[in-house]
Amino acid sequence: MTVKQKTLNDVAIIDGIGAFTGIEARVEICPAPVDHGPSFELIQDGAVIEIPVSVGNVIETENRTVLAKSEDSELQINFVEHVLGALHGMGVDNAVVRVNSVEIPLIDGSAMPFLMAIDKVGLREQDAERREIVIEKPVFIDDNALLMALPSDKLEITYYLDHPNDIVGKRVAHIEVTLENFRKRIGPSRTFIKAEKIQDLLVSGAVKHDDRAQVLIVHKDHTSAPLRFADEYCYHKMLDILGDMYLLGRRLRGHIIGIRSGHYQNRKLARKIAGEYLQE
Ligand SMILES: [Zn+2]
Repeated sequence: MTVKQKTLNDVAIIDGIGAFTGIEARVEICPAPVDHGPSFELIQDGAVIEIPVSVGNVIETENRTVLAKSEDSELQINFVEHVLGALHGMGVDNAVVRVNSVEIPLIDGSAMPFLMAIDKVGLREQDAERREIVIEKPVFIDDNALLMALPSDKLEITYYLDHPNDIVGKRVAHIEVTLENFRKRIGPSRTFIKAEKIQDLLVSGAVKHDDRAQVLIVHKDHTSAPLRFADEYCYHKMLDILGDMYLLGRRLRGHIIGIRSGHYQNRKLARKIAGEYLQE
């Protein structure tokens, strides 16, 4: 069975306040032609700066994913992972994500705002077969945590979480990445952050927009809001994996297994897969 490439019917618009800048940003997810893949455009002082999605354009940072014009460039877009996760998880092969800020707004820390905006305009099939990266033999990263991709006839993810706070604790979840499962589980799962960590970020001035009413904050014995469903933590880690793997520019077919892994291991695995499958 062949699957056709997909893009959006129209421009999907998302507005939100940036965590770093504290000002409102607008994200427009635009339709793109066959074989375009996902890409970004940074709007700055009226100029449009194209930032291709590629493992070579990723800057090494903690706790988030940043794309830049080139490795040492100051032209960068922060927090690309959740919008990329939505595109990967919803099977959007071709799209241009245009943003008028140096960051994609986090909003509630999940992919829901992107999912809803994309659903509002809908998707259409394009006249070409989907190009996938099919994992043919196991590939893994063992660097402070474990992350691997194994052959599978579908895209599926297993994640094992081991968090120092007892309220989160040790958990494991597995899911096949279908549109339905993305809507139900992966897309709505929010970023979670330790209470001390967010306090440090606010005090140091690194984060200007206090989004504590929205994101999930983990205290020693409680969370700032009820979970949307059991294992929301694991599903959010899967959203990050989906987003970071879409730095490859093509949908993946394989079983990704993460054990305590995060953005650092995701990027390393994406680079390794790019090295093996994207040399043209
Ligand atoms: Zn995340």
